[in-house]
Amino acid sequence: MAEQMFDTVSSPILEVRDLFVNFYTYRGVVRALNGVNLTIGRGEIVGLVGETGCGKSVTARSVLRLIRYPGKIEGGQILFEGQDLLALSEREMREFRGRQISMIMQEPKVSLNPAFTIGAQIAESIAIHDYKPLDDAQTEAIEILRTVRIADPEQVAHQYPHELSGGMAQRAMLAMMLAPRPKLLIADEPTSALDVTIQAQILNLMTELVEQIEASILLITHDLGVVAETCDKVAVMYAGNVVEYGTTEEVLTNPAHPYTRGLLRALPNLARQGPLYTIRGSVPDLVDPPAGCRFHPRCEYAMSECAVERPDLLTVKQGHFAACVLYEEGRDGIPDAAHDELPANVWANPDASATVGEQS
Ligand code: SF4
Repeated sequence: MAEQMFDTVSSPILEVRDLFVNFYTYRGVVRALNGVNLTIGRGEIVGLVGETGCGKSVTARSVLRLIRYPGKIEGGQILFEGQDLLALSEREMREFRGRQISMIMQEPKVSLNPAFTIGAQIAESIAIHDYKPLDDAQTEAIEILRTVRIADPEQVAHQYPHELSGGMAQRAMLAMMLAPRPKLLIADEPTSALDVTIQAQILNLMTELVEQIEASILLITHDLGVVAETCDKVAVMYAGNVVEYGTTEEVLTNPAHPYTRGLLRALPNLARQGPLYTIRGSVPDLVDPPAGCRFHPRCEYAMSECAVERPDLLTVKQGHFAACVLYEEGRDGIPDAAHDELPANVWANPDASATVGEQS
């Protein structure tokens, strides 16, 4: 049934279909991804949002096939322009990493090589991906540093990562990742390690540059304010599943899944009196996750059937899907009255502090 979700994107760059990933640890098998479905259209920015440990980064790393022991991709498909990346050899996969799909991480200084100058690292990326002589690549590296608005790029090209501020290092990472003009940029919490004052600058720069090269972005974040300001669509994850997917405006103003509704209700809201709302219970241990809908022990609408089968993504309305039995044919979904408790300003005036914390 998630098929209907895939049908809504006419020209997908990426389709993640029924993806299962486990980690074999000394405590037991961590069932990290439990049939994740996700689609990104050409030129779209899709936010992947959820609490720490819900599987956002595992999903992102799976797309690049960067899951290492003790993790294992156990099933599903990852279609990039229709080609299943899971069916490629490691050698074939290397052609996609960097050139077609780039990834930018939270900590730029960890991702950059401390032993080489910024210019040398960008030039190497250009030389490898564009098959250019190193001299030409070095000249191009300086131009690229200019496009990410680094003042005095000639000077910065000769500096080492530890000599740069966090914001400068993230600009340099952006330059390196976008130099091969990838079709998809995966950005894993790209601004969480930066000062609030420069977070917006980096996000704006990233979206502007990606638009110029007509690429798409999968933006991983736990900040609903960032989603509201940046993303065309949003996928909400809970305990290894995408539980809701739709346009950002639709999901944030009319959340359909009880978990999304709980997240939005839990945001601080100056207009509301009394203690902050919290979702009852705690995030499940993925070594022994609840059967059926993994949210059922915490859900105020749970029915006996919810503990039996994992719900598929069902249509709430055109382009909006929720993995919840309340949207099965003949059922009315979440009661309208439940929306009254949502803060009115999440979409209209996204709050920079609208982060998804540990709901336990
Ligand atoms: Fe709640 Fe059942 Fe829907 Fe899960 S499937 S969110 S338990 S109503």
